[in-house]
Amino acid sequence: MTADSTAVGASLADAAPEVFWTDRPDRPAARPALRGAGRRADLVVVGGGFTGLWAAIQAKEDDPSRDVVLLERGRLGIAASGRNGGFVSPSLTHGLAQGLACWPQEMGTLERLGAENFRDLRDSLTRHGVDADLHVPGEITMALTRHQVGTVRDAYELHRRHGIPVTHLDADAARARVASPRYLAGFLDPTVGLVDPGRLVWGLADAAERLGVRVHEDTTVSGLDRDQGAVVVRTERGSVRADRVVLGTGAFRGLLKRLALWTLPVYDHVLMSEPLSAGQLAAVGWEGREGLTDAGNQFHYYRRTLDDRVLFGGYDANYHFPGRIDPRLEQSPSHELLARHFFDIFPQLEGLRFTHRWAGVIDTTSRFTPVFGTALGGHLSYAVGYTGLGVASTRFGARVALDLVDGRDTEVTRLQMVRRKPVPFPPEPIRYAAVRATRASLAAEDRTGRRNLWLKGLDAVGVGFDS
Ligand SMILES: Cc1cc2nc3c(=O)[nH]c(=O)nc-3n(C[C@H](O)[C@H](O)[C@H](O)COP(=O)(O)OP(=O)(O)OC[C@H]3O[C@@H](n4cnc5c(N)ncnc54)[C@H](O)[C@@H]3O)c2cc1C
Repeated sequence: MTADSTAVGASLADAAPEVFWTDRPDRPAARPALRGAGRRADLVVVGGGFTGLWAAIQAKEDDPSRDVVLLERGRLGIAASGRNGGFVSPSLTHGLAQGLACWPQEMGTLERLGAENFRDLRDSLTRHGVDADLHVPGEITMALTRHQVGTVRDAYELHRRHGIPVTHLDADAARARVASPRYLAGFLDPTVGLVDPGRLVWGLADAAERLGVRVHEDTTVSGLDRDQGAVVVRTERGSVRADRVVLGTGAFRGLLKRLALWTLPVYDHVLMSEPLSAGQLAAVGWEGREGLTDAGNQFHYYRRTLDDRVLFGGYDANYHFPGRIDPRLEQSPSHELLARHFFDIFPQLEGLRFTHRWAGVIDTTSRFTPVFGTALGGHLSYAVGYTGLGVASTRFGARVALDLVDGRDTEVTRLQMVRRKPVPFPPEPIRYAAVRATRASLAAEDRTGRRNLWLKGLDAVGVGFDS
């Protein structure tokens, strides 16, 4: 049974064009903007998402006497960090298979560092009293098509070989956990958690302030100038002279032009439903509240929240020429497509309504993992390009950025993943054409199960695209 357009339209009729996670009465008041020139700081962090917040917190934990200022263009969490699915994966490499393809020699170290980062993130939230509903129900990757059954089996075996205690589910076992006629198989990775991203942003900001970080919202950094062994960070209404600067600016590439070589902004769309009734819950099961995804190149991610809504996102990621970021792009027909897919997976929930529809920008690199580096004579470092898997790995990225900007030679700064840059994207308009060709090829592979010559060529040079 496929939902018709009337049913899809009705499900979206009252959906607010707002982000569920931050559109709440308990959103904290905005911190004051930075005003006045001639301020000083040891470290300025640009960006009030997870990378910036973790950089500020870890800098203070390293050295409580360090004077740290965090500057955010809009509201804290206004970009990807407040808009995501809240899946918390230990992976630093956008999954095991991607890590093995890029850094086979280093993968053991990267898996250990990922597990340590996940453990330290949890410890840190406990230590700082951050209540962001972090729980670890695991993630099930479901096969929706016959060729995805093979993909799921291969992924299960790969994880097993690497000692990750995944469980394979046949169609009956998958449907016993979550009732969908579409599920043909699945594998459960018990290491993946879920979090409330809005509360995580707000909790980290409170923790940073308790450590002494000065946080300013509504403060766009407009320029960075080197000045006698320091950096002058210019904003619209003031400036700060800093010894060191960390950029955690995600998909926004304006401050350091070179970032546009390696990253491009891709829009990803999300729906949030009203809470399910007791009857709807009984019809869908899902008592383990696992995070769910499917095994295609174009995949959905979805979860049952603690208040029994369903978040449903992904699949139809869009790049807008020439790397445009614009709030007007957030509402799109992708939401109708998502609603249609939702009722295709859960026909028994027809009649459920969505309360929120939004989109966010994913900072995508050609290898799906961040690019790290320094600029301005080593006084500035950056960590951007998490390609849709940054809720946990931004904490690690912030660690790397701090070690780089402080000139520390550490285990993480020696990693190839940190030292080597991704393959750059070509200039426009070739970039746009290449992204479109890649999307079309990935969609064709999803339909047929076969990789075409374009994708094989990209594989050969270590390039892939994903959301
Ligand atoms: C729809 C969606 C779903 C996702 N789902 C998941 C998921 O389930 N699990 C997962 O692991 N990852 C997910 N991600 C990815 C994850 O959200 C990101 O990797 C992560 O939030 C990146 O954090 P960040 O701090 O690096 O960047 P951002 O959150 O983008 O923060 C960058 C900040 O810098 C600010 N900024 C930029 N320029 C300036 C300037 N000049 N001056 C001042 N401030 C500036 C921006 O306003 C922004 O707040 C998803 C992303 C999206 C968009």
